[in-house]
Amino acid sequence: MDQERESLDFDIVFVGAGPANLSAAIRLQQLIKKHNATAASPLEAEVAILEKSRNPGGHLLSGAVIEPDLLSTLLPDSTSHLQKETTTVSQESIWFLTRQRRFALPFIPEPLRNNDNIIVSLSELGRALSAEAERLDIPILDSTAATIPVIEEARLQAVITDAKGTGRDGSPKPGADPGMRINAKTFVIGEGARGSMTRQLSAAFNLHAEAPETQRYETGVKEVWEVPAGRIKAGELHHTFGYPLPTSTYGGGWVYAMTATRVSTGFVTSIEPQAPLVDPHGNLQLFKAHPFVSRILDGGRPLEYGAKTITSGGWNAMPKLYGPGFLLVGESAGLLDLKRLKGVYLALRSGIMAAETLFACLQRNDFSVAALSDYRERIVNSSIHEVLLDSRDYRKGFDDGLYKGLLKAGLKLSIPGISGSKPHTPRQIPPPQPPKDSPNYLSKEDALYLSGTSHEEDQPCHLLITRKDLFEVCSTTCMETYGNPCQYFCPAGVYDIDTEARPVLKLNPSNCLHCKTCEIIDPCSVITWIPPEGGGGPDYKLS
Ligand SMILES: Cc1cc2nc3c(=O)[nH]c(=O)nc-3n(C[C@H](O)[C@H](O)[C@H](O)COP(=O)(O)OP(=O)(O)OC[C@H]3O[C@@H](n4cnc5c(N)ncnc54)[C@H](O)[C@@H]3O)c2cc1C
Ligand code: SF4
Ligand code: SF4
Repeated sequence: MDQERESLDFDIVFVGAGPANLSAAIRLQQLIKKHNATAASPLEAEVAILEKSRNPGGHLLSGAVIEPDLLSTLLPDSTSHLQKETTTVSQESIWFLTRQRRFALPFIPEPLRNNDNIIVSLSELGRALSAEAERLDIPILDSTAATIPVIEEARLQAVITDAKGTGRDGSPKPGADPGMRINAKTFVIGEGARGSMTRQLSAAFNLHAEAPETQRYETGVKEVWEVPAGRIKAGELHHTFGYPLPTSTYGGGWVYAMTATRVSTGFVTSIEPQAPLVDPHGNLQLFKAHPFVSRILDGGRPLEYGAKTITSGGWNAMPKLYGPGFLLVGESAGLLDLKRLKGVYLALRSGIMAAETLFACLQRNDFSVAALSDYRERIVNSSIHEVLLDSRDYRKGFDDGLYKGLLKAGLKLSIPGISGSKPHTPRQIPPPQPPKDSPNYLSKEDALYLSGTSHEEDQPCHLLITRKDLFEVCSTTCMETYGNPCQYFCPAGVYDIDTEARPVLKLNPSNCLHCKTCEIIDPCSVITWIPPEGGGGPDYKLS
C-alpha cells in the first residue's frame, strides 16, 4: 500500500486550520517576508495547512466573545471586512437561574469582565484568516485530515492523510486513494479539543506524563437565531449558572447579541465518564425554554446548530508543548481559560509564539528538540502563563458543587436560602426530557439539518467500537449499569438503541458533528474517534 501513496515534502506543516494554526502560519509568513525584504540571503520555506473541513471555517464553532488585540497584526488588510461582522460588548450580566426565575449576581469581578471585547462568529473569523493565509501564498489543503503519525527514528517525520474511496466494508471503490504521506521538518498540531493526532502523539511520546492532573472537558452546544427587533441590544451579553443543571454538574448557558436581530445562544455541560447520563443538546433546549431566554427567542427562527468540546483542565493538565518533530498550539496544548470561557486569544497568541520559534529554526536550519523547546519558554514567559496559572483551580472548585464553585471563583450569590447548600451526588438516572412542546424546541434531527453536516455514506465507520465490545460491553455491562448513555450524550443522535428484537446499539456515523464528546465521556471507554473521509462533517458558517 505504501508505495502507492503520493508523497509530498514540506518544511513546516500545520495540522488543522483553526485560529491557533492560521495565526501561526500567517505570522511565520509575515516574518519570512519581512526578513526577505532586506536580507542578502532570503529564507525559503515550503509550508502548508491541512484541514479536514470542506470549506474554510466549516468546523469552527465558538461562543464567541474574544479579545480583539491580535487581529490587526494577523489581518492587516482585512480587519475592515471582519469589523462589519463583529459587535463590541455593550453590557453584560451573570445570572443564576431557577426553573422560572433569574437572579443577577450582584457584581462581576474585573478580570471576568468583557469590556472592549467583541462578539464574532468563529467560522467567519476562520474564513477571514484563511483568506489572509492564501493571500500570503500559504496553500490550504482542505478536505484533508491528518490521520496517522509516522514516527521513525523516534521523531514525527510524516503524517498519513485520510483515505478516500474506501467502501463501508473496507474494500477500495473505483478511483480509491489511500491518502498521502506528508513529510515535514516540523508539524504544528492545532486540532482543537481532543484531537486524534494529539491523542496518538501523546501516547507515543508520553506528553501528559508530567501533568499533575488529568485533562477534562465540557461540551458546548450552540444555536444562532434570528430574532425580532426590540428583544435585545447589539452587544448585550448574558452568562448563566443553575437551571437546568443539578448543582453537582458544572455548566451554564449564554446569550450573546451579535446584532440587534442575530443571537448566539448555547449551553455548556460538563462531560465526565463517572457521570455519563447527561444530554448537552437537551440542556440547551431546556435553557431556551426558560422564560428569560424564550422572551428573547419567541417568534424568531433558528439559523444554525452545532456542538464542540472544550478543554477545561487548565494549566495543571497541560501536555508537554513540544516533542521531536512537532509543537502543540491552541487547545491541542490545553490552552483554555474556562473561568472566562476564553480560548481564541490564547490560540492566536500561541500560534504567534510557535511562528517566532519556527522562524528562528528556519534561520539556523535547526529543528532539533532543543530548538523547538524555545516555544515552551516563550509560553511560560508570557501572559498566557499568568492567565492560566490564575485560573488553574477554577474547574476543580466546582467539584464540590455549584455554590462553592461560584464562591471560589469570586462570584458571590446573594439569594436567601440557597447559598452554601450541599451538592447533589451525580445522577444515575436518565437526564430530563427536553421540552418538545416549547415553541423554540429543535429536535436533534431538525438541528442536524441546520449544522450542514454531511458525510460520504459508503465509507468505514469512523467511530471505532470492536464487535466484541459491542456485544460484551454495550449490550450487557453498559446497558445494565448506565442505561446506554450514548443515546443521550451525543448531540447529533449518532447512537441509537434499536429495541425491535434484542436491544442493540446502532450507529449513524454520517450525522457526526466531530465534537468528540463520545470518546471522552463513554463510561466504558470502548469508543475511539478517528477522522472520517476529509470534507465530511458540519459546514458551519455563522457559529
Ligand atoms: C461552545 C464553545 C464556546 C466557546 N466560547 C468562547 C468564547 O466566547 N471566547 C473564546 O475566546 N473562546 C471560546 N471558546 C474556545 C475557543 O473556541 C477555542 O479555544 C479555540 O477555537 C481553539 O482554537 P484552536 O485553533 O486550538 O482549535 P479549533 O478552533 O478547534 O480548530 C481546530 C481545527 O483543526 C481541524 N482539525 C482537527 N483535527 C484535524 C486533523 N486531524 N486533520 C486536519 N484538520 C483537523 C478542525 O476541523 C478545526 O478546523 C469556546 C469553545 C466552545 C466549544
Ligand atoms: S458506546 Fe457502548 S459502552 Fe459506550 S455508552 Fe454507548 S452503549 Fe455504552
Ligand atoms: S458521534 Fe461522537 S463526535 Fe460525533 S457528534 Fe456524536 S458525540 Fe460528537
